[in-house]
Amino acid sequence: MTQKWDIVIVGGGLAGYVAASYLTKTNLSILIVEKGKKIGGRARTNKVNQQYLNLGPHALYKKGKAKSILEELGISLNGKSPKLGGILIENNIEHAAPLSPLDLFTTSLLNGKERMKWIAVLLKVMSIDPEKLAEQTFQQWVTQVANSKKIKSLLRILGRLATYCNAPEMVSAKVIVSNMKTAMGGVLYLDGGWQTIIDQLHNKAIILGVQVQSHTLVKQIDPVKQDQFKLILSNDEEIHAKYVICTTGPHELNAMLNEKVNIYQNSFFTQIKAVRGATLDLALTKLPNPRRLFAMGITDPLYYSVHSNYARLSDDTKSAVLHVFKYHHPDDHIDGTSIKNELEQFLDKLQPGWQQYVITKRFIPNITVNQRLPQIGDEQKLQRSKTEIPGLYIAGDWASPNSILADGAVSSGKQAAEEIILNERRKNSANYERRLPPI
Ligand SMILES: Cc1cc2nc3c(=O)[nH]c(=O)nc-3n(C[C@H](O)[C@H](O)[C@H](O)COP(=O)(O)OP(=O)(O)OC[C@H]3O[C@@H](n4cnc5c(N)ncnc54)[C@H](O)[C@@H]3O)c2cc1C
Repeated sequence: MTQKWDIVIVGGGLAGYVAASYLTKTNLSILIVEKGKKIGGRARTNKVNQQYLNLGPHALYKKGKAKSILEELGISLNGKSPKLGGILIENNIEHAAPLSPLDLFTTSLLNGKERMKWIAVLLKVMSIDPEKLAEQTFQQWVTQVANSKKIKSLLRILGRLATYCNAPEMVSAKVIVSNMKTAMGGVLYLDGGWQTIIDQLHNKAIILGVQVQSHTLVKQIDPVKQDQFKLILSNDEEIHAKYVICTTGPHELNAMLNEKVNIYQNSFFTQIKAVRGATLDLALTKLPNPRRLFAMGITDPLYYSVHSNYARLSDDTKSAVLHVFKYHHPDDHIDGTSIKNELEQFLDKLQPGWQQYVITKRFIPNITVNQRLPQIGDEQKLQRSKTEIPGLYIAGDWASPNSILADGAVSSGKQAAEEIILNERRKNSANYERRLPPI
């Protein structure tokens, strides 16, 4: 017998589970279909040899939308904030990162004049209204506010750190600066990793009647008629739904839609480029240099941070869980072997001899961090979760007009759910009025 659902959510990551959580407030039947064996998407955490490894470095913005929405849903977010500071490296020379008040005044990177300029620029970032930057690329804005090479580099580092985007000439200044502001409010490294968010959302959803079918891919989404979709699954099963929320990337969505469906949004979806990077995730029995906790390259787009110094990420208390990361440019040619060498050499500088202490090590050369590189004008095309196909809604870290990363995923999941709830209310009140006797 064909299964019929009110709502099918494609994808069991942050966006899918947040959408499901808000929709449990209705009495609509909800199914989440997830292609992975494990739920969670990019918020997954793998437990290897008693160590908890997120899929690359994950930091939750304390002032971001994701945190406040997750708290609204009753999700506990336990962890600690890393201290501001660390080092910046250029040509094997190390400088204190001018991010904490002390390092600002002592760093060898800046001279007296540059120090004052950098403080002025930081104050500007804190007070600026990002809406005013909607027509500029990040590169244009950087050139406008900074005239020295070092201050420009520092702004680009902060931009990469806050957004993972490494294409200043392509990205929207509005989104990057807005994220920089949010990042300056601090981040949390979570105890047990981001899987703890997913597991709590999953358990709450199951208790409230949401069904989850993992290890199942949605091959096709076919809008059959008004209020009815046919979805074809990887086991060739067909299921029917009144509403579909798609939380996959835009290109996967296009592929799933029947070729006959040619919506205007398709052309925008096909142009979207992803934010990508390479990650080296490690657990070590100990750190050769325990004081080295955070570093970034000045020109080289590299990142290093020991997350276990702040979050509980192993069953024992002694080992260290850390991430070394390279921010890719969308035009980069990805050569896995040379990128792995680059990341390991960066780690050699920071933790010489680390190879002797490896408990577990994972290298991913080209991972999607965010499904959309935020470009000027994107927000106009993403105002609503509703698509041109009635009943089909989008969510995910690419689908939010003004946010990216977890903030984009979580806020778009909430928005899709709210739009469906509103649509149901409208339909129900229209039906109720139709049933009223004429006066
Ligand atoms: C290395 C790295 C570092 C990051 N760091 C941060 C950070 O510090 N701060 C931050 O806020 N964010 C960070 N992020 C981003 C954050 O993890 C993501 O934005 C968020 O998890 C995306 O959630 P989502 O639900 O939109 O997408 P996903 O998590 O990708 O979920 C989509 C789900 O859909 C499933 N799916 C796809 N196609 C189909 C199909 N046809 N049928 C069924 N299921 C399907 C996928 O398997 C997946 O589980 C990072 C991401 C990475 C990779």
